[in-house]
Amino acid sequence: MPRGKHGNGTTGIIRKATTIDPMSDATTPVAALKDGIHRFAMDRGWEPYHSPKNLVMALASEVGELCDVFRWLTPEESRTASADPVTRQAIADELADVANIIFLLSLHTGIDLSDAIRAKMIRNTVKYPVPEQPSA
Ligand SMILES: [Mg+2]
Repeated sequence: MPRGKHGNGTTGIIRKATTIDPMSDATTPVAALKDGIHRFAMDRGWEPYHSPKNLVMALASEVGELCDVFRWLTPEESRTASADPVTRQAIADELADVANIIFLLSLHTGIDLSDAIRAKMIRNTVKYPVPEQPSA
């Protein structure tokens, strides 16, 4: 998408959701989040720009913006950064950008994100077994 069209706007769907019905991880289906960003992009005619290649580039850019929030913080400062309201908002904004690009990448590759996470967790469980605890 052209840089100038990116802006900081929100869709009517998300705006309504945040002002009328608060959203939380505990109650929001992944499909609703994917639908929200998909409609946001479609309403703006951005679909033609959303090739998997472009989305991966956008993902890297958004991860870079998230990294910028934490740049030069000590490990301890990074653990408490979200306590500062301004920094917390910056983290939340970039985390949302990263998540939205991941949702778009899921849509445009036809990969079900929940199934991919489940399958990867199964492989990781085998790859990284829980260490045996020393007997007491
Ligand atoms: Mg961003």
